[in-house]
Amino acid sequence: MRFKYIYLLISPLFFFVSCKEENHKTSFEKELSINSSLQKHSEEFKKEVIKVKENIYVAIGFGLANSIMIVGDNGIIIVDVMESGETAKEVLEEFRKITNKPIKAIIYTHNHADHVFGSTGMVGDGQVDIYAHELTPYYLDRVVSVTRPITELRGFRMFGVYLDDEALVNCGIGPKLNINPTSQLGAIRPNKTFKDSLAVTIEGIDIELYHAPGETNDQLFVWLPNEKVLLPGDNIYKTFPNLYTIRGTIYRDPKQWTQSLDKMRAYEIEYLVPSHTRPIFGKDLIHNTLTTYRDGIQYVYDQTIRYMNKGLTSSEIVEKVHLPESLRNEAFLQEFYGKVSWSVTNIFHGNLGFFDGNPSTLQPLSPTIKAEKMISMAGGFDKLLEQASSAFSSKEYQWTLELTDYLLRIEPSDEQSIDLRYNSLIKLGENESNPNARHYYLTIAKEVKGFKIKSIVDPDLRTIHTIPLEAMFDNLSVNLIPDKCENIRLNVNFSFTDTGEKWSVQLRNSIAEAQSYHIENPDITVSVKSTIWKELLAKKRGGLTTYLSGDIEVTPGIGDFKEFMSYFEE
Ligand SMILES: [Zn+2]
Repeated sequence: MRFKYIYLLISPLFFFVSCKEENHKTSFEKELSINSSLQKHSEEFKKEVIKVKENIYVAIGFGLANSIMIVGDNGIIIVDVMESGETAKEVLEEFRKITNKPIKAIIYTHNHADHVFGSTGMVGDGQVDIYAHELTPYYLDRVVSVTRPITELRGFRMFGVYLDDEALVNCGIGPKLNINPTSQLGAIRPNKTFKDSLAVTIEGIDIELYHAPGETNDQLFVWLPNEKVLLPGDNIYKTFPNLYTIRGTIYRDPKQWTQSLDKMRAYEIEYLVPSHTRPIFGKDLIHNTLTTYRDGIQYVYDQTIRYMNKGLTSSEIVEKVHLPESLRNEAFLQEFYGKVSWSVTNIFHGNLGFFDGNPSTLQPLSPTIKAEKMISMAGGFDKLLEQASSAFSSKEYQWTLELTDYLLRIEPSDEQSIDLRYNSLIKLGENESNPNARHYYLTIAKEVKGFKIKSIVDPDLRTIHTIPLEAMFDNLSVNLIPDKCENIRLNVNFSFTDTGEKWSVQLRNSIAEAQSYHIENPDITVSVKSTIWKELLAKKRGGLTTYLSGDIEVTPGIGDFKEFMSYFEE
């Protein structure tokens, strides 16, 4: 009785504490074991600022990526700015122990969140030149708007953002992705972009930027000819490259990746400072490392294509392609981020699309029909459950997981099946040396038991305001719910009073065609500042309060517009 009373007193307090910053994380009932090679890999991410040369420093271990400072005459240049304002400020504080010179320029090696979202954290409201490849803004818009929900969900599973510190060992390319519900996320748009190459002198430092598609299409590398320093971005880090990322991405072309590494190999590099993992010093070591890395990529690419041309399916090629003896033990090709098997599958489907060539996969049975047939073949639900249970006892965790696909397809709330799925995912995660796979298994394990992932990416206003209207309207179109607007034809004209831009949306045939011009005789007209429209779509402000304050004008009436907006996902 007394214990209960004490618990009642304490529990609201506990609730309050656990609701603070870290409340998005989930913990496990028992301590998880960790693959020993993954554990050892954490040594790569000792938190420190390394002096590369008198005027070049790299901060490692503060977040997922590194941030690099180049010190010029009267100012500094920052290459990559971390994943959040908080992490960026922590790094900047360390850099401030070295110099107080102002930030004169930022260089993004590519568009990924861990390299760009700390920019407002670094410079606040200040204006600064931001260099990037000309494709970077396009990919930034795409990630921030069109595919954000799924990229965020899968990305956060893969990086273990929702896992507690015991479950998350490291992320393969950095200790962890420092993003939580209170993070300041600000990616200032690049204002100095280029196509093939760009040579500039900033604060007395000669800087050459080269387009180097690889991990991303907008990747660049930075060459400092006087210092003999090369910053390769994410085209090399100390793990097998992420030729495919399990969070999902457009095709990464290994051919281009090797060509970009070859471009780097042509220089007499004395210091190689990647945007993940530690720098490498010494001309020969750097040349050999770059060579090994590009050879690993070329091997996987060439052999996948070779077997593909012989008519093998992607899963058959996965069984065939492994790194050769001479590359298998190379430190930079261990699978702590990318994996050969995932790369093979991606190269196959990147070249041939979804169909693997086997006629039985051309128009397969639906998952439900297949599950029904598997259960019937096993002799009923309980029999298949028994099979799954004995597979688990025999430590066949992948097979257990696959069997629970069938069981839960038919009985989604069957507790024994849920337990088997949960336990097999935990085992797969615990045994896994690849952190992306470990985190994905462990996060889904918690989701199987009811843990709900909430969206925690909330870009700041400065970022939202710079997203072009085109990306905003692209986003609107892919959020149309056909069931709600079947047979409805409706035309809406938008006038943006601050920029003078005109847009229209025509609803017909269960699609929303967005165009950057007005159409005749619209059913609804909307007049609003572009910044306010973007804030509305980003849920930074409410529709009703905006209307009542007169910040949006709608004819014939707000009711019609509300109806129109109800045809789209929130
Ligand atoms: Zn990165």
